[in-house]
Amino acid sequence: MPEWKIPLFEPDISDDDIEAAIEPLRERWLTMGERTQRFERAFEKKLDGGHAVALCSCTAALHLSLLALEIGPGDEVIVPSLTFAACANVIIAVGAKPVFADICGPDDWTIDPEDIQKKITKYTKAVIAVHYAGFPCRMDSILAIARQNELFVIEDCAHALVSSYRGTSCGLIGDVGCFSFFSNKNMTTGEGGMAVSRDESIASRIRLLRSHGMTTLTLDRYRGRALSYDITAFGLNYRPSEIVSSLGLSQLGRLDRNLQKRREIYTSYIKSLMPIKGISIPFLQRTDESIGYHIFPILLDTPDIRESSINQLKEKGIQTSIHYPPIHKFSIYRQLLGDNDPDCPITEDIAGREVTLPFYPFMNNHDIDMITAALMKVLT
Ligand SMILES: *Cc1c(COP(=O)(O)O)cnc(C)c1O
Repeated sequence: MPEWKIPLFEPDISDDDIEAAIEPLRERWLTMGERTQRFERAFEKKLDGGHAVALCSCTAALHLSLLALEIGPGDEVIVPSLTFAACANVIIAVGAKPVFADICGPDDWTIDPEDIQKKITKYTKAVIAVHYAGFPCRMDSILAIARQNELFVIEDCAHALVSSYRGTSCGLIGDVGCFSFFSNKNMTTGEGGMAVSRDESIASRIRLLRSHGMTTLTLDRYRGRALSYDITAFGLNYRPSEIVSSLGLSQLGRLDRNLQKRREIYTSYIKSLMPIKGISIPFLQRTDESIGYHIFPILLDTPDIRESSINQLKEKGIQTSIHYPPIHKFSIYRQLLGDNDPDCPITEDIAGREVTLPFYPFMNNHDIDMITAALMKVLT
């Protein structure tokens, strides 16, 4: 492993987190139980509403959302191509067809409502809206289109912990919201996720599917509340462990403080990078207080200098990434699509010029100065 001077991200793990993670081991109750319930209630409080269901990942949340909404073979789901592959893989997993939509433009990398409208067919059942980098999608337009065409809206909030749009937390705007607690997200349990819905019946359905469609839990039987169980749906095992939920509760307690730090770093970054010629920064018009800044993407003026830029930053010990290679360009999706080009020209342009810079709550101004100086050198 290279010795990064400035890594792309660094999880914030406190002594309290470590203590929280080992408590379930001391108590000898490791599977989904009371701590998971407490984590769910605390998460609902953080979003200020909804019904939360803790899961083992955001991918599980997306998969169960589709199952709970009864999306399957013959159905189409509109999804951006500029996102993590999980969003499309889960559509395949339920036997439905992903239909890739473009993003709004070089300043707004969220799914384009006009392109959604264009790609609706009589088979379309849902839209997955990804709040890229924590910036909310144009939800007013997306909801209006969804209402007109009787579509479900699933929000991928893996980057949007916690963002809000016109006063409502992301995740509670559409029918279901899916969150991730993977190692590099705004709060982490290593692996973990949460599905939320304002609709109690959707949340209960996800809760049932999380554990094989069983009517009782191991905890209920331990407490003597249930002898046996029935299976009332074709579920899976997408449960979180108590270790994950205990760590999640502890992490959630520090989320606001870390979000404040993320905001400060974001602002310093923009100030520092603004004078550099040859790059631009997306979403500049959206600096609301209510954005859960997750990653720091920049756009190079031309694609030809990306590889050398990334390599020169690497030589200075600065780790970068690319968010994202378009899903429709991956080999398995090329095979799936054949000659059907999904027509996402903006996505293809942006994906070829994007570089993600390091971003985490405990970066300091010296780190930002180093990155700025390195970029300046690369671009002259
Ligand atoms: C991280 C991420 C996911 C997947 O989350 P997991 O918890 O790793 O399953 C899905 N969508 C987006 C946009 C992500 O960034």
